[in-house]
Amino acid sequence: MKVKLKRKSCFKQHYLYQNVRPMLVVRALMDLRHQPLYKGVEIDEEWYSHVTNYIQAITEETELLVSEESDKSDNDEPVNPGTIDTMVENGDYVSFAPGEGMRPLSILIDDHAEEKAFPNLFGGHPRKLKDPLKNYSKVIRSELLNSDRRFAADTPNLFFKCKVFVHKQISSNVQIIMRKNKKENLRASDVANSENLTRMIDGDQGYRLLHNIQNSPSHLAAIRKNTFAMVRQLGHPTIFLTISPSESSWSDLLKILYKLRHKIEISDKDALNLPYAEKSNLIRDDPVCATYFDQRFRALFKLIKNKNGIFKEHPVYHYFYRVEYQHRGSPHVHMILWLVNAPQFDPTKPEKTFDACVTLINKYIQCMVSKDSPAYAYSKSKQTHRHTHTCYRSAKDKETNNCRFNIPYPPMKETFIAL
Ligand SMILES: [Zn+2]
Repeated sequence: MKVKLKRKSCFKQHYLYQNVRPMLVVRALMDLRHQPLYKGVEIDEEWYSHVTNYIQAITEETELLVSEESDKSDNDEPVNPGTIDTMVENGDYVSFAPGEGMRPLSILIDDHAEEKAFPNLFGGHPRKLKDPLKNYSKVIRSELLNSDRRFAADTPNLFFKCKVFVHKQISSNVQIIMRKNKKENLRASDVANSENLTRMIDGDQGYRLLHNIQNSPSHLAAIRKNTFAMVRQLGHPTIFLTISPSESSWSDLLKILYKLRHKIEISDKDALNLPYAEKSNLIRDDPVCATYFDQRFRALFKLIKNKNGIFKEHPVYHYFYRVEYQHRGSPHVHMILWLVNAPQFDPTKPEKTFDACVTLINKYIQCMVSKDSPAYAYSKSKQTHRHTHTCYRSAKDKETNNCRFNIPYPPMKETFIAL
């Protein structure tokens, strides 16, 4: 049965549209009625008899159909239709607007909004904590890192949590700014007064209150200013690094994900030999495994910063990095490092600075790897450029194989600095 949920019944557009199995919905309702959050909820008898009649009619219809082609049905699994299970739309659907005419409660006021919005996760039970919104970040952490992955695998719930979290941050920022600017309580009428409003806009208060919200324009502007200040103070950074994960070849991660999903431990070799489709399913279905990349990156970064680590003779004394996500998926880090005693290239006096810079480059960057080296296989599979769609700006580029990074580069006998 096709169901469309609308914001208002007069709207043409729906908000949600899915196929549902009515009997399952009714059974879930019957069950939820006995749970604490749904106590006192009554089922409309008229609606119920209507639904049962409707289902009966459908079942009889399908039984007729099934008996006609009964030889085909040896599939015991219940048919679980997706959003649209056929290309042919017959326009036969039920549509209603459950929230029409109601006054919505803010998700910050309604203590049990999340539990009610996700009966599939909470089963109609409220969280046991007294005031879950007070320690919301702890609640999120505990639910997402739980060995029961139901919360982590539910994408709408992840977004819901994120929304509540950001709402909470913004509302607490608003309160701080209100307290800073006004001796007495600020009322809605104060904001309606254009003089007051202009003063608030001039003080950039609306923009500033986002300063600690990740990836808000105000937050990014602050980071940019800081980085520019670092460049002015410290000079050019020495090294630019990009670090990307290779989840499909991390046997540790695959083993953990496999164990969480199937409750079976597998060996490193089995993990690496999983078919690519299964690996990507494991990784995609658990969005929280981005924290694994974070931990791994931090471990590597410790090694980079360590005085006896990778940059032994030129220890790192300042750095800046930023984590980005490709197509809302894989995270990667862009990083700039300032190294101690690193020579600075001066284009006006190349003869004095060139040699020192080339020595430093040759020390840490190599473009060749010998076939006997243990790094050979790794470099070949992970450090070699492969053309992807980002290489081509237009269809014509793709036809002529015109990579925008101009790769492959012609071989060079020695290092030089191109300006
Ligand atoms: Zn390319």
